[in-house]
Amino acid sequence: MADPTKRLDSNAPGNFFVDATCINCDTCRQLAPSSFEEIGGYSAVSTQPQDADGVHHAYQALLACPVGSIGTEQNDGVGLKTAMGSFPLHLDDGVSYCGFNSEKSFGANSFFIEHGNGNWLIDSPRYVKHLIDMFERRGGLAHIFLTHKDDVADADKYAAHFGAEQIIHQADLEAAPSAERIIHGEEMVRIGSEFQIIPVPGHTAGSMVLLYKNRFLFTGDHLWWDSQSQVLDAPTRLVWKRWTLMDSLRKLLDYRFEWVLAGHGDRVHLPSSDMQRHLLALLERREKRSGLP
Ligand code: SF4
Repeated sequence: MADPTKRLDSNAPGNFFVDATCINCDTCRQLAPSSFEEIGGYSAVSTQPQDADGVHHAYQALLACPVGSIGTEQNDGVGLKTAMGSFPLHLDDGVSYCGFNSEKSFGANSFFIEHGNGNWLIDSPRYVKHLIDMFERRGGLAHIFLTHKDDVADADKYAAHFGAEQIIHQADLEAAPSAERIIHGEEMVRIGSEFQIIPVPGHTAGSMVLLYKNRFLFTGDHLWWDSQSQVLDAPTRLVWKRWTLMDSLRKLLDYRFEWVLAGHGDRVHLPSSDMQRHLLALLERREKRSGLP
């Protein structure tokens, strides 16, 4: 629970506030961009929500915040309950954002795919009753895909509860040593007709993305949308091997996708031709920066 005595001065006066325990993970700014901004290395409520929609999004941010840094002066139980019921937040065609980001993954986003041959969890949210119940109601979990070693969070608890297999790359296995399915090397691996696992070493040695239906690309920390600059972006810090990262970004030009669903960074939905254009532009920027012809 956020502590009103630690309320940051950068918050606009009013009901919602961020306290000084914020770890600046960006989750609230993705969910409620009209209310939350980055100010002085923290998030803050720059504009109090103006209408019912804004209040709803601010409560979603409050619930998704991995460290409980968002609070209200006056509690609205109904608003909170409605926001709770909105998770997992449906995005498109059975794909949802889970909410309840975990501090163990520095607030990374996780996603849920409802699928006839068994549901998927992509990276892990906090292990919370609400999500356990919601997954149970939708048929449980069969697969837990771990994009890389940093975003594992409570995957082992979900795996144990649902009897789901965890999938991780051998190079990042230290984060999930009990994983049932281990991916080796850099070749794409198909699971059924709709899922492709693509190893993309770079951020970590064992980073992977998951392509679903040639539409949804779950990218972990390999690739994300920068909504301020309206471009695709990739890590410049905390990179295992820079040249390998570039090769892994280039590799994605062979695939078509409309959604980028990132662990850290914004998600985006664009026509696949635009996505290709943005990916090429990212590669050009990076090559120019590194002085390559
Ligand atoms: S979600 Fe919480 S920890 Fe993350 S930036 Fe917002 S207030 Fe800070």
